[in-house]
Amino acid sequence: MRYSFEKINPLDYKPRLIIWEVSCNCFKNKTGIKPFTTKESFAVLDSIAELSRPIVVLASNYEGNPPCDPLDRPDIIDIILYGNSIGLKMIVETTGNKLNKDFRNVLRTIGTKSIRILVNNKIKESIEQGFEQSEEFLALQKLLAEVKHDGFEIQLGLPINKFDEREIAYGIDFAVRKNARGIYFHLVNSDIKSKKKKDINQFDKEAVIMWIARQKRLLPDEMYFSPQCVRYGIKHIEDEDHDVKESCNNERSRIGHWCLGGKTFAFISATGKVQICSALKNECGNLRNTNFSFSKIWHNSDIFNWVRCNNFTCSQVQKTVDEPIPKRRNYTQILEHLEH
Ligand code: SF4
Repeated sequence: MRYSFEKINPLDYKPRLIIWEVSCNCFKNKTGIKPFTTKESFAVLDSIAELSRPIVVLASNYEGNPPCDPLDRPDIIDIILYGNSIGLKMIVETTGNKLNKDFRNVLRTIGTKSIRILVNNKIKESIEQGFEQSEEFLALQKLLAEVKHDGFEIQLGLPINKFDEREIAYGIDFAVRKNARGIYFHLVNSDIKSKKKKDINQFDKEAVIMWIARQKRLLPDEMYFSPQCVRYGIKHIEDEDHDVKESCNNERSRIGHWCLGGKTFAFISATGKVQICSALKNECGNLRNTNFSFSKIWHNSDIFNWVRCNNFTCSQVQKTVDEPIPKRRNYTQILEHLEH
């Protein structure tokens, strides 16, 4: 693989989407790590707003069992309101267990228009009934009907931890039937409980990303449909590595994708670690060590600056962030290298 050590200016990169696993007290009970206080959460949002006005998705901690939900935080409405007041586009992504009528009324009163519902493990195939009519599925159907009736735009969040085309296709079919405005895929690790490195990242995210690109053409144009951390586009073979050129034979160009991690996308874990995404645990910085300054990490992280130097695909990012220096040189070394 060819690497670029181009000199880039970190100030040129602005986040457009940040997924933040805001955690609550149940996370503290499980891990001993205190969630951010309301004031600390506001400081994180202030620091994001110094950079740009991105969408901030207040997300569940998918890896918890059961997941920690943003609506479990008693101050979640204050956090949404504060983010909106400083120009951020706040979206709450919830399992929906706490999204009762009263809560929906409050959300509507503060001007929330879209709600993202996490549908993991609730949509399953049934030969006789189309969708398995499990208790969770029926509760999801009821919730979506209520949310829609209250006038909210529905978005669905679907964590993917293995490449099962049929299962993902059922999720997509469900989203279309429910007139969801969008379906957002989270590419998470396959075996999040495993301590063995080989079990992590074992499913081929790149294959999923390209499979999703092909499904896009079959769906209503107005539906948002994507892993949120990639950009699709035409890749010209001349720009590719030798081995890719060989395998493409006579094709001159093809649909490809680029990872947006560190360029316009970032992830904040429930513990306060800033990462490229939830699947890559490499720490770009910890908000607890920067006085809750996201912008300091965004500008100074060697990992972010490394991926900014290169137009990596998903698998290339995954391979190279783990490579030892000097193969993946840190950004300071890259600058030194360029200056000599
Ligand atoms: S490495 Fe990049 S493209 Fe792959 S899942 Fe993470 S953010 Fe998305």
